[in-house]
Amino acid sequence: MLMANSSKHPIGIIGGGLGGLAAACTLAGRGHRVALFEKNDYLGGKAAVHEDAGFRFDMGPTILLMPFVLRRIFSEAGVKLEDALDLVRLDPQWRCFFDGGGVLDLVEDPQRMATNINTFAPGKSADRQYVEMLRQSKLMRNASDKYFFWKSIGSIRDTFDFKGSLQMSVLHDLMNMKLGRMLGDTVRSIIHEPRIAQMVDHFTQYVGSAPALSPAVLMGIADMQISEGIWYPRGGTHAVPEALENLARKSGVEIHTACSVARIATDGSKVTAIVTADGREFPVSSVISNSDVVLTHRELLPEAPARKFQKRRSYVPACSGVVLYLGLNKRYDHLAHHDFVFSRDPEQEFHDIYQRGIPAADPTCYLCAPAITDPSVAPAGGEALYILVHTPYLRPGQDWKKMLPDYRRIIFEKLARTAGLKDLESRIISQRALTPEDIRDRYHVWNGAIYGLASHGRFNGAFKPANRSRDVKGLYFAGGSAHPGPGMPMALMSGWIAADALDTDMRSMPAATAST
Ligand SMILES: Cc1cc2nc3c(=O)[nH]c(=O)nc-3n(C[C@H](O)[C@H](O)[C@H](O)COP(=O)(O)OP(=O)(O)OC[C@H]3O[C@@H](n4cnc5c(N)ncnc54)[C@H](O)[C@@H]3O)c2cc1C
Repeated sequence: MLMANSSKHPIGIIGGGLGGLAAACTLAGRGHRVALFEKNDYLGGKAAVHEDAGFRFDMGPTILLMPFVLRRIFSEAGVKLEDALDLVRLDPQWRCFFDGGGVLDLVEDPQRMATNINTFAPGKSADRQYVEMLRQSKLMRNASDKYFFWKSIGSIRDTFDFKGSLQMSVLHDLMNMKLGRMLGDTVRSIIHEPRIAQMVDHFTQYVGSAPALSPAVLMGIADMQISEGIWYPRGGTHAVPEALENLARKSGVEIHTACSVARIATDGSKVTAIVTADGREFPVSSVISNSDVVLTHRELLPEAPARKFQKRRSYVPACSGVVLYLGLNKRYDHLAHHDFVFSRDPEQEFHDIYQRGIPAADPTCYLCAPAITDPSVAPAGGEALYILVHTPYLRPGQDWKKMLPDYRRIIFEKLARTAGLKDLESRIISQRALTPEDIRDRYHVWNGAIYGLASHGRFNGAFKPANRSRDVKGLYFAGGSAHPGPGMPMALMSGWIAADALDTDMRSMPAATAST
């Protein structure tokens, strides 16, 4: 049996985002030698932190779902999640502000939620319809657990054998997943109250995709959130990459920050080395790229495998966004930790963002007001308010330096009109913005996409490039643009899958090959 660490050269990881860190910890936990290269001077990628004037903001993700994924990664090194992170469960999960009036709390307990809905929209059966949506969502989520998670797959053909005879149980699962149907229509066939349907639509915003263009199976995200909760890591979401970095360092991972990778060298079929932007060459036994999968092919690999990848399937970036980080001298007591301030017309909003490629004239704003859970994010009585508005991925000619002042005004007007934040401007004592160009440049992602690749497509929409390269031996992918997709839990899971696939491949190799 090959020892996991018998190879002469370490495994190279490009990028220290959540996917790269999860892969590093998993491999190190299994006894491999690992070297990680990150272009920024910190680890965590999009899960970054911004501090100013006594305020602390998570710059990227603020909503953490499915902590069991993190638990599995920590357990690879024999560490208990509870010893690494202090996670607080949040309920209500979201407070929803609707255009034209009406506030609804999304709470965990389905029966309590049904009561809330009945008060919010009496006599419309919307309470029963919501519970029915959750029932169907659970079936979809169960099917995802069975066919989709914890393994390297890249298409519907990798998942189901349509040539052989499908077993009855598989056919049943396919029916539950509503294969071939789109999410927007499916939600509206179950829920007829337009505001509740709009709320449920927003689970697809976790993957930066349009409900009308995404497969119905993404409705399974509702169950992932409702049955397992929304969590806040004490110290902010940046505590997650911090805990992973600690684990990686303790497990002996060699970490190079401020070290951009310029090229993955191959011998024609297999990876041989990582070449950094300053010209250093690091021989490696294998590579996991946590950089955007499309950019990895375009920029880091030789032309032949890059062309093969591009010809196999074309992908579209997920949406981008504008984030405002506002340090306030007062808190808004009517906000919950997570709030959605919804657009007037979701169809128009999504059409603008995802099809016309222009910022929505009346956008949905997501707010994170964490001081209610963690007063240490702001000076006493203040708030570290985070406002995220989804925008199209960067199109030619869009210049957010010019576009931001007008769009900021639209956002402020929306928040005053729909969520009662009328004096927001006068409360600000610290501010910063993140634009689509900033997202592109800071995290080196395709066209500023927040969530990797869009989940658009009737059959293959939920599928991203598989974690094991089909074109180059010894190359694997981890992160939001690889399987199973974007968001913290999925990017973490992709790191685990890439590491597991690599580990399995190495262990099944003859010793002579593995050690070259
Ligand atoms: C504003 C915003 C809000 C979000 N909100 C949420 C949320 O609430 N909940 C949630 O679950 N998710 C959210 N997300 C999505 C989530 O943050 C991402 O899906 C996840 O963090 C992506 O992890 P990743 O592994 O793909 O790595 P990334 O964070 O993309 O990191 C990749 C790393 O690779 C590095 N890199 C790239 N190329 C090179 C190279 N050539 N050489 C060296 N290093 C390189 C980059 O610098 C970066 O550090 C949000 C994202 C953003 C930006």
